[in-house]
Amino acid sequence: MANKQQISTKINHKNELTEFNSPIDYRSLMTTLQYFSEKYPFIGITYMGTSVLGRGIPMVTLGEGEYKKRSVLYVGCHHGMEWITSAVLLRFIEEYCMAYEGGLNLCNVNVRKLFKSRCIYVIPQFNVDGADIQINGVDGCILQDRLIAMNCGDDFSDWQANARGVDLNHNYDAGFGYYKQLEAESGIFGGGKTKYSGEAPESEPEVAAMCSFLRYASEIGTVLTLHSQGEEIYVGPKGVYVPRSGSIGTLISRMTGYRLSSPSGGAAYGGLTDWVTSELRRPSFTIECGKGENPLPIEDVKPIYSRLREAFFSVPLLI
Ligand SMILES: [Zn+2]
Repeated sequence: MANKQQISTKINHKNELTEFNSPIDYRSLMTTLQYFSEKYPFIGITYMGTSVLGRGIPMVTLGEGEYKKRSVLYVGCHHGMEWITSAVLLRFIEEYCMAYEGGLNLCNVNVRKLFKSRCIYVIPQFNVDGADIQINGVDGCILQDRLIAMNCGDDFSDWQANARGVDLNHNYDAGFGYYKQLEAESGIFGGGKTKYSGEAPESEPEVAAMCSFLRYASEIGTVLTLHSQGEEIYVGPKGVYVPRSGSIGTLISRMTGYRLSSPSGGAAYGGLTDWVTSELRRPSFTIECGKGENPLPIEDVKPIYSRLREAFFSVPLLI
């Protein structure tokens, strides 16, 4: 675990939500989760997989982990510049914990009943290496020279991929072959900061771990994947019918005020939402959080969270 002295995230010990005042790198992520696990021992924290650079990818479990209980999965930060989504999910975890402890209703949901009846898995930062590279650069990284070559320089401020230059949200087995053609037409033939899908579906350890987890965890009824930005909600590929996907999507749209939309071009292939929808046939949604230019400023966490929180508390009850 990280050294608490070095965290720039302001952790308070009153009944207020944690203030995030700097980007969520791996140290900040782990220190915050360590704090949550000490303060709220009823939550579970495990590693759902390991990144290319050997970092554990933490997953938080909210709710009693009874086998085959109806569950949902929330995933943040597939892309290095989109760590704002990690802060949004950490805020959700903390508010859930406070409400559970205090026996509160939030958004008309009794959180203690929710805890008993549903399980919410949260992966606040899926691309832990990519976010850390985008925020801190690659000094001292074992793949430093390779990453600088792939990035064409040492400014990593627009880095989206993992530490092997693969865009994790194009590495799922959903229209992979077709995406490869688009990739070649765009002149992408190898690792880089964005949009390279990898040598094969699930070639990256992060994506392989996610797919294994979801194949095994058949109780997960819905997956919400957070990206930034655009204030839109994408459903899976056109022409793929998944029962209840339309009604759940419409409800999320009403709760958030974000509009439902279909991805176009290369964005329509190889993503987690596409794979869960087309392969597992479970409702799955990409939520493009906030508006502006990536990376969105950390100050945007509160307004983004306030738009999404009703959906976070309510979606588990829709499955
Ligand atoms: Zn993204």
